[in-house]
Amino acid sequence: MTKECKIDVASKTKRKTLSVKVRTKSFSPVECGLVQEEAIEEAGRCLGLRECQYCEICGLLCPDLCITRDEKTGEVLIDLDYCKGCGICAAVCPKGAIEMVLEEGK
Ligand code: SF4
Ligand code: SF4
Repeated sequence: MTKECKIDVASKTKRKTLSVKVRTKSFSPVECGLVQEEAIEEAGRCLGLRECQYCEICGLLCPDLCITRDEKTGEVLIDLDYCKGCGICAAVCPKGAIEMVLEEGK
């Protein structure tokens, strides 16, 4: 059985830009900065989400070599038939994208 990392893509905060008409008449920055609420939301998107960033640290440190990446989509896959549940991958994942759960009894 193969399990994929859970990936939730958060949308980026859209920045306001000056219209072409205004741009041609001033030296103001074309792309405006973020107001405080937008900056807090953006920081949460970058730092707070527990989504895989494909760094591959988990695959490098898995002692059973059961973490691979899908060649087509690039997604990280865990082959649970070979996973011994040591939890190293979950411990080293910088994004907290791997969650250890108890396997149901057979
Ligand atoms: S729990 Fe251990 S064996 Fe299973 S995928 Fe993670 S590092 Fe590999
Ligand atoms: S360590 Fe975490 S972020 Fe990096 S590839 Fe593995 S699941 Fe994704």
